[in-house]
Amino acid sequence: MLVLGFESSCDETGVALVRVPEQGAPQLLAQALHSQISMHQAYGGVVPELASRDHIRRVLPLAREVLANSNTALAEIDVVAYTQGPGLAGALLVGAGVAVALAAALEKPTLGIHHLEGHLLSPFLSADAPEFPFVALLVSGGHTQLMRVTEVGQYEILGETIDDAAGEAFDKSAKLLGLPYPGGPHLARLAEGGDAAAFELPRPLLHSGKPDFSFAGLKTAVLTQVKRLGEAPTEQQKADLAAATQAAIVEVLVKKSLLALKTTGLKRLVVAGGVGANRLLREQLNAACARRGVRVHYPELSLCTDNGAMIAMAAAMRLQRGMAVLQTGPDAGGFEVRPRWPLGSA
Ligand code: ATP
Ligand code: MG
Ligand code: FE
Repeated sequence: MLVLGFESSCDETGVALVRVPEQGAPQLLAQALHSQISMHQAYGGVVPELASRDHIRRVLPLAREVLANSNTALAEIDVVAYTQGPGLAGALLVGAGVAVALAAALEKPTLGIHHLEGHLLSPFLSADAPEFPFVALLVSGGHTQLMRVTEVGQYEILGETIDDAAGEAFDKSAKLLGLPYPGGPHLARLAEGGDAAAFELPRPLLHSGKPDFSFAGLKTAVLTQVKRLGEAPTEQQKADLAAATQAAIVEVLVKKSLLALKTTGLKRLVVAGGVGANRLLREQLNAACARRGVRVHYPELSLCTDNGAMIAMAAAMRLQRGMAVLQTGPDAGGFEVRPRWPLGSA
């Protein structure tokens, strides 16, 4: 079976083709991705209307690229999957509209996928795929959650952020340091030449005893330091503050992940979402987990942020388990996106 997947929840247009064997792991045949980052950079963040329009421009050429690179004819596709939510409504509608129209033309079913399930299952695209059950640390631009994952579709949220997401903390702090959007990777690069001990920053809820998070206070503390440094901070001061910010975020993420592992008794951790690309986070999680006999799995670096492969993969894993609710038949042209959609109900 062949699944074509579309991702368009925010500022990346992604298309991917996955083969679903009767048994064994689904296989990524081809994928194509266009990031709108450079387009939104001038505005310091994602402009929803511009995002929707650009998805419209990119989606079909990307789909053609995927079919050409995998030597696949449209008629060979069995299921068309798309990100149904959460995300920007207008952006979601583009991927959903194209997927539903294509499926109708091919007389094939569609399958709406939860974007965060895509992130969560993205490590299954790696050669070293995890096994169920595991603890998942989902750290993206809009979400920060720890989950007990028993199987596909069985997600128990153990704790989450009460305000900003980890990616948001990176991005907002980076903006205060004058770095371009999205600031996470820029802040991480600047931090490499910095001394984290040069600034003392808060680690909110570090000792709450629960796997919950709060990053809004950290951003305020960074703002206070930026103001203290005045008009013309030196490059070294900026690097030091970047290092201190990254260290604060990473320490909280590591400590809470260990807490979730301890309370669940599970020996496997899966890290997913854009912040999962952070090198310091990976180093510290690897070291802490190695000491506790816990195996850590990550998506490939390029699959940490949004992409079509994770959506096609999530669809494939649902199809293999016979749990996919396929939209087909004369009413299949009707569809609904879900801009707000808690993962627990996926
Ligand atoms: P969501 O999935 O919650 O809807 P999103 O799709 O915008 O949000 P992702 O694409 O998973 O989020 O991740 C983007 C986030 O990851 C941004 O906040 C970005 O700054 C952050 N990020 C990416 N690379 C790094 C890195 N190396 N270090 C820190 N943060 C990073
Ligand atoms: Mg993005
Ligand atoms: Fe995402």
